[in-house]
Amino acid sequence: MKKHITFEKQVIATMISIYCRKQHCKSKNLCKDCYQLYRYSTKRLNRCPFGESKPACQYCKVHCYEKAMRQRVRDVMAFAGPRMLYQHPIMSLKHLCQSKFTKAWSLKEYRQNDG
Ligand SMILES: [Zn+2]
Repeated sequence: MKKHITFEKQVIATMISIYCRKQHCKSKNLCKDCYQLYRYSTKRLNRCPFGESKPACQYCKVHCYEKAMRQRVRDVMAFAGPRMLYQHPIMSLKHLCQSKFTKAWSLKEYRQNDG
């Protein structure tokens, strides 16, 4: 069961395609750069040590993205996030709920580990 990871992949794929369509090639397919970013993100998700209990990436303690890639993903999310809310409201809400929930969860974990 990799439901959560599958959902995260769906979210990132949607966000990157919104971003690419508006900012880059305006075609249905991702441009080379965006495709690379997408592949990178899904590879990271596959290897995420948290698996199903993974907190949303922005709150994750393990910074699995390389710095440059992290910046690119952040740009994509900042741009596509609000737009996704219009185009895919249910997916966005689910993603936001999950982020909120996992934020609370990971902060609690963090404090516990901190002593
Ligand atoms: Zn692109």
